[in-house]
Amino acid sequence: MGQERIGFREALYLLLDAPQLALMEQADAVRRARHPGDDVTFVIDTNPNYTNVCVTECTFCSFYRKPGHPEAYTLTPEQVAAKVARAHALGATTVLLQGGHNPALPFHYYFDLIAAIRAAAPDIHLHLFSPPEIAHIAETCGRTREAVLGAFWDAGMRTMPGGGAEILVDDVRRGVSPKKISSDDWIDIMRAAHRIGMKTSATMTYGHRESPEDIIDHLLRLRRLQDETGGFYAFIPWSLKPGRSPLSRLVAEEELPSLYVRVIAVARLVLDNFPHIQASWFGEGWRAGQLALHAGADDFGGLLLEENVLRQADHNVATTLDAVLTAIRDAGFTPVQRTTTYERLRRFDDADNPFDGPILRARGHDGAPEAEPVLIARA
Ligand code: SF4
Repeated sequence: MGQERIGFREALYLLLDAPQLALMEQADAVRRARHPGDDVTFVIDTNPNYTNVCVTECTFCSFYRKPGHPEAYTLTPEQVAAKVARAHALGATTVLLQGGHNPALPFHYYFDLIAAIRAAAPDIHLHLFSPPEIAHIAETCGRTREAVLGAFWDAGMRTMPGGGAEILVDDVRRGVSPKKISSDDWIDIMRAAHRIGMKTSATMTYGHRESPEDIIDHLLRLRRLQDETGGFYAFIPWSLKPGRSPLSRLVAEEELPSLYVRVIAVARLVLDNFPHIQASWFGEGWRAGQLALHAGADDFGGLLLEENVLRQADHNVATTLDAVLTAIRDAGFTPVQRTTTYERLRRFDDADNPFDGPILRARGHDGAPEAEPVLIARA
């Protein structure tokens, strides 16, 4: 790097006080030094949720139902596999599989899930669970977290989503998700996953009870672990969507897109050891996602052929390939389809995909009409 790393005080200045355009330019320069050119990657994925039963009761969550609730569900491995097979047939290369903390599920359920998915879509990438799920499975199934991770590795899991991080400051976590694992637990499970060879993303959900200082603490904790393990491949921040969750009584307003763009830029500058910073069009809307590509983000996330969690917070997302390609192009970049671990699959230059129509048939912040997600291949 050859330069002093950004410390706490400077990071806080950048987040709160640096002129917006100068901050974006600085982050964009760092992004272009690391990823020269105008390519922006995305992945075609699907995100089925195997159960909405959860005993962790996070205050920001509109998705979960307590055991016995009339709307509670748990899918059979065959039902999950059928969903994955449908998405795979539409072009999905990754299944991002997550669920609530359901104490009724035995250890073998998770392996039956994996086996059914592998039988239905043998070459789809298994991007599974999250640190809080690993802790929950370990606890309910009487195994150590390391043993659970090792068993999933043996079953074919090579990457883990970085969910459940919220803000890695325990005072904040006690306020919004008091039954969830601590920040040290989250870090320790990530460290254990990295040690056995798994690669993971890292996330951050802001816009609830945290302070700006907490956001910087979160980033610096991630940077320290990445110095130690090198196991993170991407950082993905998004703001809280309070929806109809209990937290909506305290957090009535969502954070502004301008703060999101600042968070992306600061993340690019502080997380100097993270290869990729992901723009979350599905969390923040198309326009903010496009701006983030000019503020340090080099990736546009996933197509999310199925998404349930944000939908329960009245935030409908799921889109089409055309919408993602056009959004990336409209922002001034060239779309490149990638795998979960950022191997490039296909570069969509204009000759490959001349689609030039209206982009926003997707559902999201921009108020486009609701429609079934349809993958439109134009090769
Ligand atoms: S965020 Fe996850 S752990 Fe928390 S209540 Fe919702 S489903 Fe449960």
